[in-house]
Amino acid sequence: MVTADDPGRGPYLRVAVPAPLSQLFDYSLPPACDAAQALPGMRVLVPFGRSRKVGVVVEVSDRTALARQRIRPALQLLDSAPVLGTDILTLARWAADYYVHPLGEVLSGILPPPARRAKQLPAAYPVRWRLRDEHLRPAARARVQFALAELLADAPHGLGEAEIAASAIGREAAGWRRALAAMRERGLVEASTAPPAPGDPTGDDGEGPPLHDEQSAALDELLAALDGFGTFVLDGVTGSGKTEVYLCAIAEVLRRGRQALLLVPEIGLTPQLVNRVRQRFGAPLAVLHSALGDGDRYRVWCAARDGHARIVLGTRSAVFTPLPEPGLIVVDEEHDSSLKQQDGFRYHARDVAVMRAKLAGLPVVLGSATPSLETLANAARLRYRRLRLTRRAGGASFPTLKLVDLRRRGLSEGLSEPLLEALDTHLGNGAQTLVFINRRGFAPTLLCHDCGWVAECRRCDARQTVHRKLGRLECHHCGSGAPLPAQCPECGSEELRPLGAGTQRVEQALAARFPDIPVLRIDRDSTRGRERLDTLLARIDDGSPCVLVGTQMLAKGHHFPHVTLAGIVNADSGLYSVDFRAPEHLAQLVVQVAGRAGRAERPGEVLIQTHNPEHPLLQLLIQRGYEGFAEAALVEREHTQLPPFRRMALLRAEASDESRPHAFLQRLCERHGEAARGAGVELLGPAPAPMGRRAGRFRAQVLLLSEGRTALHGLCERVRGDLESSPASRRVRWSLDVDPTDTY
Ligand code: ADP
Ligand code: ZN
Ligand code: ZN
Repeated sequence: MVTADDPGRGPYLRVAVPAPLSQLFDYSLPPACDAAQALPGMRVLVPFGRSRKVGVVVEVSDRTALARQRIRPALQLLDSAPVLGTDILTLARWAADYYVHPLGEVLSGILPPPARRAKQLPAAYPVRWRLRDEHLRPAARARVQFALAELLADAPHGLGEAEIAASAIGREAAGWRRALAAMRERGLVEASTAPPAPGDPTGDDGEGPPLHDEQSAALDELLAALDGFGTFVLDGVTGSGKTEVYLCAIAEVLRRGRQALLLVPEIGLTPQLVNRVRQRFGAPLAVLHSALGDGDRYRVWCAARDGHARIVLGTRSAVFTPLPEPGLIVVDEEHDSSLKQQDGFRYHARDVAVMRAKLAGLPVVLGSATPSLETLANAARLRYRRLRLTRRAGGASFPTLKLVDLRRRGLSEGLSEPLLEALDTHLGNGAQTLVFINRRGFAPTLLCHDCGWVAECRRCDARQTVHRKLGRLECHHCGSGAPLPAQCPECGSEELRPLGAGTQRVEQALAARFPDIPVLRIDRDSTRGRERLDTLLARIDDGSPCVLVGTQMLAKGHHFPHVTLAGIVNADSGLYSVDFRAPEHLAQLVVQVAGRAGRAERPGEVLIQTHNPEHPLLQLLIQRGYEGFAEAALVEREHTQLPPFRRMALLRAEASDESRPHAFLQRLCERHGEAARGAGVELLGPAPAPMGRRAGRFRAQVLLLSEGRTALHGLCERVRGDLESSPASRRVRWSLDVDPTDTY
């Protein structure tokens, strides 16, 4: 047996430690540990500086670059089998490398929460109690025992203690644990640790509608390619039946004994999709989303890892879920920026999904009515195969888009007369209508009519939003707030006026205009708590006339079959933003909002209010739809040499000291300028971030652009190494974002 009596002798564990350092750390084996016991993917407790950390063994090697006397022994192997298989470990290593982020941090984000603690993992499946003989009952006078037996008789898979505690008996009979122990003693119940089926498998698969021609063609191409890697773009207008195609492909994957992974931007916003998947498949479904508690997350994760869950539906982090028998990955709404993590390990779940499929030899489907320009460029280069659905399923026609010219026109609380008239007509026809506005709250600005004072956030370069019902001013960037003032703090005037319109103001105006019609507001303020949104969605589902007023929450994935008119209150902010992706996001938003209208038999209409009706982007969108827009936008990106025609990374720095971030980045650019020029990487900046101050911190940034990925990647690694080792970088908060989606 090779043991670590002499810590300087191999073999060595190469460990990824959760720390902001990109290197791996070598340790000798923990005391009394056989070399054969240590495997990549196991967790190990290691001394780190003056503390201890839970790291992951990445390699076991006979060699180390460290001097013998500097090697320390690891303290303890925490697992007897790897928690992460080599497939996930390989994917994580790729992601750490691609996004230039420390592997230890990547892995600690991937591990389920209990695995981050220095303990053995809890049992994957908690004990479940079952009747040994479903006909055998305790005597009726043992009241609690009898009731427990009745409860268990109705649970063929048994019940966990948490479930019993939550049942009527658990809540009413304090002595149920004693009663259960007594029943166990008497051999009436038994404990099982078999995995429960996650979700509620219903047994058989439900039937979908017969596919139309385009759907069948897309499905056939997909099914023909199930045996190997391939990236498919399922590009189909909203309501064209994309989801139906995913579901059919998943059904085939399940029939072949494989698992399917379905990634969506946000689950809370689209309960309809979860329900649809649940209803369609008899196979066990695991749903992974951010609202899960640690215990549930762990159980769901285990069910996926052990192959009990056959379909895994989750948000971006679910892309790292271990699956023993993966057969297909679907990324729904692949253009949605929620798929990109915006802090810490800044990965894009879509791109990780494509790499995962490649490593595992599977097909991956990227679905969207408004594919990102990156994805369209990949399709144009024939890296991705594009499958199109051009018509709406079930005979619905796509709504017509019209611009409402706001120039020289009176607005009542943000709404123009043509929009109000259209609302009137559609509601009069018994239809539902929808008004989209990008701001929550009552008004985005509070202005003093006498002196021009404007309520600004003290901590951000931003205005405070008026929340009239709460009687408050609130900053939507840092969350700070203040009571709504009665007088102008500058001149004492009482003529303070809310300027511009938010969802609440529009809601109020519509309620006054259509007193007999319910106005339902859907935004972050009106839907705190899951039930509120579900209740609202259920009301919309009943089909009676109403006006929906809301933010992006309305634009995502919902089916509103009774909505025939959608109004977009203001398209202009997307036209002149400093963010080069703003036009793309605007076009996606308009088309997604439009997609909510006219899904059923009734044709839909979309009105877009703008002060720039001649703007080429809007014109293209109206005349040629998203496709026409995307073609032109790609030509422009090529012209300006922006992504996807060049690779981009963004280096950000912020500090409470005004000059520090800029000076810090300036020195960094000086140190790496020559290497950048040599490699053909352009450094733009440092410049103040578009929002120069946020939450009390001043922010600056440098854009890194290059034609090839290798050059950019090399430079990012050098910069990161420099940042990790230089003392100056501890005095600012910095981040490196590869393929940033938001450049502010
Ligand atoms: P998408 O995902 O592209 O928005 P869905 O798959 O959700 O489209 O389909 C939109 C609506 O049309 C759904 O109500 C769906 O049940 C229905 N649908 C889809 N395919 C068909 C079909 N082939 N025949 C009839 N209805 C269909
Ligand atoms: Zn004033
Ligand atoms: Zn603020």
